[in-house]
Amino acid sequence: FHSKLPNVKTTIFTIVGDLARKHNAIDLSQGFPNFEADPELIELACKAMRDGHNQYAGMKGLPELREVLSDKIEKQHGRYYSPETEVTVVAGATQAIYTAISAFVHVGDEVIVLKPAYDCYEPAIEVNGGITVHVELEAPNYQVDWEAFKTKISAKTRMVIINTPHNPIGRIFSENDMLQLQEILHDTNIILLSDEVYEHIIFDGEVHQSASRFEDLATRSIVCSSFGKTFHVTGWKIGYCVAPAGLMKEFQKVHQFNVFCVPRPVQHALATYLKTESHYLDLGAFYQQKRDFFLDAIKNSLFKFTPSQGSFFQILDYSDISDERDDALVKHLILEHKLASIPVSEFNLNHRNDGMLRFCFAKKEETLQEAAEILNKL
Ligand code: PMP
Ligand code: GLN
Repeated sequence: FHSKLPNVKTTIFTIVGDLARKHNAIDLSQGFPNFEADPELIELACKAMRDGHNQYAGMKGLPELREVLSDKIEKQHGRYYSPETEVTVVAGATQAIYTAISAFVHVGDEVIVLKPAYDCYEPAIEVNGGITVHVELEAPNYQVDWEAFKTKISAKTRMVIINTPHNPIGRIFSENDMLQLQEILHDTNIILLSDEVYEHIIFDGEVHQSASRFEDLATRSIVCSSFGKTFHVTGWKIGYCVAPAGLMKEFQKVHQFNVFCVPRPVQHALATYLKTESHYLDLGAFYQQKRDFFLDAIKNSLFKFTPSQGSFFQILDYSDISDERDDALVKHLILEHKLASIPVSEFNLNHRNDGMLRFCFAKKEETLQEAAEILNKL
């Protein structure tokens, strides 16, 4: 057979995760918490199973969950999405992203991706016959030059993908970034796919600038989020997606055939749990404390950094420690020092090496402390 994805390899998360386990390394590589979710949420899910909510949910998701999400987003961003026609519960953001791309990108269409970028966008574009057009952001600040971005738009541009807060860089888009993007896309037919899985993990009093907050952008946007990140349950693989009715109708045409619906007991649990806002409104402070703990613990190391603005990732500049490529250094750190991280080059165009490693700080303090002790010795 002819591979549809000849250049795609096993993901870095699988490769580094396996290596970390094999060598018994402290694992700050893949993004997942090593502490438990709230027992109340777990109990709600168990209760839903015991109460018999064990058969298929509706294709769009449980009505109670779509309603609570619609209320939440309206409160958060001032935009109303109809639970009936504009909200879908998805099997994690990965499925939402794949579904959105396959619903809208025709063969030969161009999709603009800002690099570095999370790794699931481009294979989904390619397998659907689209063409990725890259906009490269430069270390160490990875700011978007919107004038340069504008030059990448052509008559074939079907979609733009953005991600704020950003994985792996930990940067957020400002209101001004979003206004510039809105201005550039105004009067076009371009769809915006806004990956906002870290929407609640934002620091230092900043406000998450969702595409939903901007009237003109919102009319062309599919916004996706993930309960895995918000409630420390990445293994549940559940999230949500919102878009204006016209876009959502097309999205659901694909969703109904690539997943149909997602696990019902956890939808029950989340619908009840989401009614308490503090579960997610306190998440920024919760992770800011972990970020600060980690950065304080390595402040005397040779790593250089700008504190992450959002997400549960911190990138560290190792240029004063080694001139190895980042992927080689990641391997070296696992084998020789028993500490796992992710090479940022994995998310860059042509594996450009910025001399940066990504560390996940969604970990217990004792794990962060142990990792810091290793980093301080390098
Ligand atoms: N987008 C980004 C930026 C992510 O970091 C992740 C999680 N690794 C996803 C999407 C996928 O989220 P989910 O696990 O809900 O599929
Ligand atoms: N989003 C997670 C990360 O960036 C990885 C999820 C996955 O393994 N696909 O670490």
